[in-house]
Amino acid sequence: MSEAKPIIPPTATIKLDSDALVANWRALDRLSGKAKAGAAVKANAYGLGVREVVQRLMAAGCTDFFVANWQEAQEIEDLTAGKAGVSVLNGVREADMPFALQSPAKPVLNSLEQVQRWQSSGKTCDIMINSGMNRLGINVEDLDAIPAAEMSIDIVMSHLASADEDVPQNPTQLEQFKAALAIVPGKRASLANSAGIALGSDYHFDLTRPGLSLYGGIQRPALEEVIRQVAIPQAEIIQVRSLRAGDRLGYNAQYIAAETHKVGILAMGYADGYLRGFSNSGMFMHEDIVLPVLGRVSMDLIAIDLSAAPYLAEGDWVACEYDLEIASAQSGLSQYELITGLGNRLAREWT
Ligand SMILES: *Cc1c(COP(=O)(O)O)cnc(C)c1O
Repeated sequence: MSEAKPIIPPTATIKLDSDALVANWRALDRLSGKAKAGAAVKANAYGLGVREVVQRLMAAGCTDFFVANWQEAQEIEDLTAGKAGVSVLNGVREADMPFALQSPAKPVLNSLEQVQRWQSSGKTCDIMINSGMNRLGINVEDLDAIPAAEMSIDIVMSHLASADEDVPQNPTQLEQFKAALAIVPGKRASLANSAGIALGSDYHFDLTRPGLSLYGGIQRPALEEVIRQVAIPQAEIIQVRSLRAGDRLGYNAQYIAAETHKVGILAMGYADGYLRGFSNSGMFMHEDIVLPVLGRVSMDLIAIDLSAAPYLAEGDWVACEYDLEIASAQSGLSQYELITGLGNRLAREWT
């Protein structure tokens, strides 16, 4: 007989908003015009939980997912097989072949070597074009060497390096990509990431590949109106104390009280991805009341000012201000780093 173990209530969580996630995908699909929106779900869906994200987006009608490697494809294979396409962005190494050949996922071939490796399998693939980012992909001048007629090429894609900026690199990459499509057409063409969708219809082709904006990231004004916050970290106040004028708080006394006031100690820290950049600059919220972070963020603990809500007590919960644009300005971290860095210790709670 096994006894049920007592549950351990968490002291910090992330509230994840299913409706916002789905609304964001729908908005990006709409903004993609004639193109359809896929979804970048690499890195565990930017840290939020790939299985939960894929299930919700499939229910909303998303049929193309992008992961970084074959482990990530395997994690969603039972959900996607026969129902949605999965593209492995980092390509296929010799060591991946035993798994890749029996996987329903497709490699995104990034070099002529990978083309050669995959070609004889007769299985479908995608192709990455290097249109000027010089990360992964095949150079336009090398495309003639691809035996395209003998291969089953689904998506021919490229990736924008600076879609979040108005710079000449965007139209330059667009022209390079069009030149590539004239040589290797494939069934579908895909160029835009989240910010690229907002660059307009020239950048849409057949399929777009948003990631960041699905999860609440906003890097262009056009997305401001439609993209909703998905992830909100929450923490419990595990101790309340009173500081007097001159009292020092936390490592290296980076906050010194000027007067008597209360502080709350939260069970969250940089081990949860709430990094040092929020020291003396981040904030938590209780309803509409702002509770600033005081002093240095510790590994497992944060102190917040309770001056504006002195009635808060141990056991009460507060929400982290984690709107990605605001949190990015507070911390100096990119919106990508903020969302992907949320630690595994925070229990994911989908609403
Ligand atoms: C990560 C990634 C995306 C998604 O980019 P976002 O900026 O997060 O929208 C799209 N395409 C490729 C090739 C990627 O690596």
